[in-house]
Amino acid sequence: MVNTFVPYVSHVPRDNSDGNLVFKAGKLPPGANLTAAAAYNGTTPPPYFTGLHGVNVEMDSKLVKMMWLTIFLTVGTIFALRLAELFVAYIRTIHCMTATAVQQTYYTLDHFPLWSWLKKNLVYAPLLHKRHNRELQISSVVNYGTIPGRIHFLLLFVYALSQLIYCLMLDWKTSEKGKLYAELRGRSGILATVNMIPLVVLAGRNNPAIPLLRVSFDTYNLFHRWIGRIVAVESLIHFFAWMAAYIMARGDKATLAIFVNNRFLQYGLMALISIVILVFHSLSPIRHAFYETFLHLHQFLGIAAFLGVYVHLCSKMLPAFPFILTVVIFWMIERLWRLGRLAYVNYSRFGGRTALVVEALPGMACRVTFQLPRHVTIRPGSHVYAYIPAISLWMSHPFSVAWTNVEAGPPVTAELTNMGSRDLEGQTSTKLVKSKTATRVSLIVCARSGMTKQLYEKARQAENNKLFLRGFLEGPYAGHDSMVSYGTVIMFAGGGGITHHLVQIRHLLLGARAQTVATRKIVLVWSIRDVDAMEWVKPWVNEILAMEGRREVLSVRVYASKPSVPINTSRAKPTMQIIKGRVQPSTILDEVIPQRIGATMVSVCGPGALADEVRAAVRARLPDANIALNEESFTW
Ligand SMILES: Cc1cc2nc3c(=O)[nH]c(=O)nc-3n(C[C@H](O)[C@H](O)[C@H](O)COP(=O)(O)OP(=O)(O)OC[C@H]3O[C@@H](n4cnc5c(N)ncnc54)[C@H](O)[C@@H]3O)c2cc1C
Repeated sequence: MVNTFVPYVSHVPRDNSDGNLVFKAGKLPPGANLTAAAAYNGTTPPPYFTGLHGVNVEMDSKLVKMMWLTIFLTVGTIFALRLAELFVAYIRTIHCMTATAVQQTYYTLDHFPLWSWLKKNLVYAPLLHKRHNRELQISSVVNYGTIPGRIHFLLLFVYALSQLIYCLMLDWKTSEKGKLYAELRGRSGILATVNMIPLVVLAGRNNPAIPLLRVSFDTYNLFHRWIGRIVAVESLIHFFAWMAAYIMARGDKATLAIFVNNRFLQYGLMALISIVILVFHSLSPIRHAFYETFLHLHQFLGIAAFLGVYVHLCSKMLPAFPFILTVVIFWMIERLWRLGRLAYVNYSRFGGRTALVVEALPGMACRVTFQLPRHVTIRPGSHVYAYIPAISLWMSHPFSVAWTNVEAGPPVTAELTNMGSRDLEGQTSTKLVKSKTATRVSLIVCARSGMTKQLYEKARQAENNKLFLRGFLEGPYAGHDSMVSYGTVIMFAGGGGITHHLVQIRHLLLGARAQTVATRKIVLVWSIRDVDAMEWVKPWVNEILAMEGRREVLSVRVYASKPSVPINTSRAKPTMQIIKGRVQPSTILDEVIPQRIGATMVSVCGPGALADEVRAAVRARLPDANIALNEESFTW
């Protein structure tokens, strides 16, 4: 949205030294400027630290247009590439869903060398050698976050550079320094405000660009953090440019008293302070050490910043006002949408409410099963936000959907076997259905130090290690990465990361049986510390292992790095093995890739170090094979 409304000084303001110009909104005649307007009225122009005096409104407006154009062009290009990718995947699925392994041979190689090169050197590449999602830590407590990937870095660098260029496109030839400061103040101020729009949109769980561009919330969160830093720098430039012009104009008379009884300046200062604190308290070591406190403070400071900018701009109807109004509207829409969705998912008009059962499991984890009062479609690879007020009041925590009783979309047509687990009433659970039955969602929650630990402790102390509570689910989110067009799918999971893959496997196995997907070979590699973690997903894995046609398609390898009991290797089967030791992703790929069927998808969900190993192994095999990489990372 670009502003064309230009307010001007309708009468000469009182020079009360407080920068508090009084504007009446109106249209500035084309080509006119404030100095000329004042000269026409036969009066002295206002000083450069006040209102729009010296601000190049016309140029600001052009640059804002330019900024939007580049954003839309970038988004449009990514969208076009995604559409092309989807189209290719669609054609491949149609062609391969009834094809034999041999008939899929064409797809084992990438026939677009440029695309392969881009994947290897840009899209999947870490910034430097190998490190991307492995956190930079100096101890297990202090976490410095992760290093952006090469494509993320490139986009962020170009974006930051463009902002710098916009800020520096000033009238450097002017002989009046104050005018230069005013121009810089106006430019940095409007850019900071406009940047708040992507800042807010990218932070939203319901950001429409997530499904549209099929880019994860995690990636947008990275952009959110860096755009936030750009907003802070521009806000500081805005403030210091104003201060420089004020000190220049007033000399020794410049005083902090200018803020007294001056709503315009007070709210501007409030916004600036909030924005600066927002940046510092969001630094990775602080954010990760006190995540819930961080979230509360972040929202409070965010509201203070919006309010400050809103009143600052609204009180004089400045050109940047429509942008902050847009920010506030977007923010409110997202919040209202979340509330509405929360109510829809967790309450039914017949009086039903979400209930949940928490089971403490060996290996410091809980199985949490939410019984929703209505049918909700959950796509494979989705995650939800869990609210458990008895443990963490109004806070919500994200978890992958480990299992659900309903299957999303085709190809499920028939009932499946028993789920082997028990529902909230303790009866043997229902069968997998695609009808509009009430949805049950199961999560595996590994105990960390906050809410997850409290939940685990409470469940452990409960009778039979089972706790019955009330709660809410928000979502589902994501689930847009489809694997159905790949003949071979290799899944790496680390610890609790197994949850991301189970529903995907069920979906692909059902599809393989019904011949609605291209997938003919799935290799699941799960890396855990001790075999007791297998208890977490036992009922669901058993169900998967019992599925018809599973043996021809799925093989499972579990790597236990520090098993507390000896592993009985004599019971190993070719399609189900438990191995002592650490997984080597490159060895697995060396084994599977030569025998692949069609195009290959490698998916990873687990600790950053595992994801980085998998990424390196995939890149090393490009462009010799047609491989795509899908990474579910939880770096926020
Ligand atoms: C998309 C997604 C899917 C996930 N799926 C699973 C899963 O299936 N199983 C599982 O065990 N874990 C999963 N996690 C991680 C899980 O969300 C965190 O372990 C959990 O929120 C930690 O809560 P805590 O209070 O015990 O955290 P703490 O021990 O206090 O903090 C540990 C870390 O957890 C994260 N965290 C804490 N609170 C929140 C919050 N309210 N919102 C977001 N992150 C938070 C922060 O990164 C923090 O540094 C997932 C995370 C994401 C983002």
